[in-house]
Amino acid sequence: MSIDIERRTYPLIIGNEAVEAMSGKRFQSVNPATGETIAEVAFGGADDVDAAVQAARASFDSAWARVSGQKRNRLMMGLADRLLENLDALVTLEARDIGKPVSSVRAEIYQGISELEFFAGASTKLDGGTHGTPHGFLNYTLREPIGVCGLIVPWNYPLMLTLRKLAPALAAGNTVVIKPAEESPLSAVALAELAIEAGFPAGTINVVTGDGPTTGASLAEHPDVDKISFTGSTEVGRLILGAARTDFRRVSLELGGKSPAIIFDDADLDSAIPSSVWSIYYSAGQSCDARSRIFVQRSVYDAFVERFVALARTLRVGDPLDPSTHVGALISPEHLERVAGYIESGKAEGAEVALGGGRAAVDGHPGGNFLQPTALIGCSNDMRVAQEEIFGPVATVIPFDDESEVVAAANDSVYGLTSTIWTRDVGRAHRVAGRIKSGVVTINQPFTVFPGTPFGGYKQSGWGREVSLDALDEFTEQKSVLVYTGDRPIDPFRLG
Ligand code: NAD
Repeated sequence: MSIDIERRTYPLIIGNEAVEAMSGKRFQSVNPATGETIAEVAFGGADDVDAAVQAARASFDSAWARVSGQKRNRLMMGLADRLLENLDALVTLEARDIGKPVSSVRAEIYQGISELEFFAGASTKLDGGTHGTPHGFLNYTLREPIGVCGLIVPWNYPLMLTLRKLAPALAAGNTVVIKPAEESPLSAVALAELAIEAGFPAGTINVVTGDGPTTGASLAEHPDVDKISFTGSTEVGRLILGAARTDFRRVSLELGGKSPAIIFDDADLDSAIPSSVWSIYYSAGQSCDARSRIFVQRSVYDAFVERFVALARTLRVGDPLDPSTHVGALISPEHLERVAGYIESGKAEGAEVALGGGRAAVDGHPGGNFLQPTALIGCSNDMRVAQEEIFGPVATVIPFDDESEVVAAANDSVYGLTSTIWTRDVGRAHRVAGRIKSGVVTINQPFTVFPGTPFGGYKQSGWGREVSLDALDEFTEQKSVLVYTGDRPIDPFRLG
């Protein structure tokens, strides 16, 4: 099969069948760079979610349960091959669906496929262990799949984050119901269709498109779902937790962030400046790990700001389908208004706009949601723009004097996802890394995750870790088996 990027209607995928929603309802998927509707997508209701969960349960109890680790490995590698064969089409499909530059989308989908391949290997290595016991006993552990997993995904990295959850879930032997975001439903349907072609048994991978309050909530609340893996806002993460608490279903959460970059006065500014520009303006700032609070030591503050602003001015905001574009569109007009509101809020609190601050005009795209890369300077960490996740191309630049002050300010946040430290002092780099409360710390480089390295948050940035082998813990139950190996009768009350 090759992916048709001109296709106009997208179904639900339940039990390896393409089906319309039972209600017959559809919603529109809009290209954020043009404002045009590019496809109509089935709107799954509670009844469709129920059908998908039943299909996943049936596969978990029979077909998928009989598939060995070796076969899971082959199926997952087969899916990875099909994704690679269709990479160009997937990149265009996703770039049109979310308004992100093709260069970024290509790198992200490639990362997702690498994670799928990484966990394909893990599917043959789900080992338990043995533990010390009193004489005459033996203990070993088994790692068993949890069951039917609901995977709820946001719009900012649709296919990559779907693969990030799907890969460990399948490797561990679970079946899944995927709920992509309503803003970015297309690539999940294409993925499920490629999985059918790759030979996955019916019901193993299901996709129910729709919105959050109806479709997502039906999945999160479904009594026959054993685990929810959610990536999205902290606010919706709270709702997911609420739905799970009745029956203590398993939950892992990758949530929001307000990550700091800390630039000490001995930093290599030739790396720190381009990397800091990338860390906030990549994905138009719509990244959970955007380093949106940039703390700069006062003695290099003016030099940093001048060079940061000059470099960020060279970013090309433009057509996502143009390979030379760096910054694409924001996901929706409502989101653009929200981000613009934060710029006004920063100004009202005393920040100075050193770069951008308004809408960006892109030739041939009058209906697109483009915003200029924006830098607010002279900020303090207690401003709203330093405390709340803006999720747009807005850097908040904050001067600091010494190490203790910046560590306290960096940690003064409800979030704790990622952070980046720039210094040539090795001792300080590791000392500060130890004191920062975030799930990921990067030192003298901006990249927060590679296939195989753990990713996840402290505090309100979430629960659990993805990407590394730790993700298998999120998708397995551990069973402890205790056996008697002695040759005398067992008589715990000593009655005999
Ligand atoms: P969102 O929370 O609005 O939506 C995420 C998903 O949840 C969507 O599929 C949506 O339909 C669904 N949803 C919404 N309401 C629901 C409900 N009541 N019940 C069940 N599902 C529901 O988030 P978003 O706007 O799509 O994404 C942006 C957020 O995601 C940001 O806060 C960002 O930081 C976060 N994010 C975190 C990570 C991470 O790894 N930590 C990665 C990417 C994005």
